[in-house]
Amino acid sequence: MSLLLAGNFDAEEQAQWLAALREALPGERWVTWRPGLDAALAAEVDVAVVANPPPGSLQGLPRLGFIQSLWAGVDRLLRDETLPPGVPLARMVDPAMSAAMAETALWAVLSLHRGFFDYAAQQCARQWRQLPQRRADEVAVAVLGLGEMGGAAAARLAAQGYRVRGWSRSPHALPGIECTHGEAALPGVLGAADIVVNLLPLTPATTGLFDAARFAQMRRGAAFVNLARGAHVIEPDLLAALGDAAAPGRLHRAVLDVFAQEPLPAHHPFWRHPRVTLLPHAAALTDARSAARVAAENVRAWRAGRPVANLVARERGY
Ligand code: NAP
Repeated sequence: MSLLLAGNFDAEEQAQWLAALREALPGERWVTWRPGLDAALAAEVDVAVVANPPPGSLQGLPRLGFIQSLWAGVDRLLRDETLPPGVPLARMVDPAMSAAMAETALWAVLSLHRGFFDYAAQQCARQWRQLPQRRADEVAVAVLGLGEMGGAAAARLAAQGYRVRGWSRSPHALPGIECTHGEAALPGVLGAADIVVNLLPLTPATTGLFDAARFAQMRRGAAFVNLARGAHVIEPDLLAALGDAAAPGRLHRAVLDVFAQEPLPAHHPFWRHPRVTLLPHAAALTDARSAARVAAENVRAWRAGRPVANLVARERGY
């Protein structure tokens, strides 16, 4: 039996992943995916370790019994209509990544709350002006999505003293966090928040969720932080909600890590918008060594007939 590594990597990334996976799973035979993979090699593959592989790359693997994603988000993988049905698919859940996401959420919320992004803009304009200073417990933060990333971010923000309300699909009970769930609760959650942090998965139910109507439900002067997926947001609606220098809109600021098109095209208005802070999809990068260990543990579990962790419910989309 052998393992297939399939991803949209360049040669250097592929070599790094392969080295990390070989270290975590010593003694295994690895096949790297390429177009027109030899049928004899394909027939030996029982496990595919994938990172958004080209659509169709998991076809023609007659013994494939388990798919492990190296990425946390599997939305792109699930859009591949040729993904073999019925083969269990696990996504990456790495505590190092959740910790990094919680740090990014804390940085964004703290900087918004204390006006540090506004001070950076003032520095560019050589402007000396102190802004009102609020306590953390006077700032209401909504965290949308209470999974691996949202749960870690909400806990970190609550520990920092923010008033945190979380929102998910099903009920949750988390210490120090007011938990709400279901679509009907969303307008109330958005309307009560000074800062909205999006950590939802990209599914048919959440694609384009943040449109003009949702931004209109947010408080005047609120900030929107998107650390999840670009396709959650209708970008022209966000720009309209932010307004411009002449006519500021409802939202004061946006902090964006993810975009409809990545890399963000050079002409995109987000680059130069004075009240947009952006990151290059770097809120929580995958660490190859720790992710390889997590993937290896799941591969060993599957081979031994033990339960595998972090299975994706394909019909739910996450
Ligand atoms: P997850 O563990 O699957 O958690 C998803 C959460 O969203 C769950 O709490 C779920 O509710 C909730 N949810 C799903 N659909 C919903 C709906 N229709 N309405 C309300 N709540 C809904 O996902 P995760 O690992 O935390 O990832 C969250 C996001 O972060 C994903 O979009 C992922 O792609 C992104 N991400 C970004 C980066 C980056 O660097 N920017 C890195 C990693 C991940 P239940 O708890 O009720 O199921």
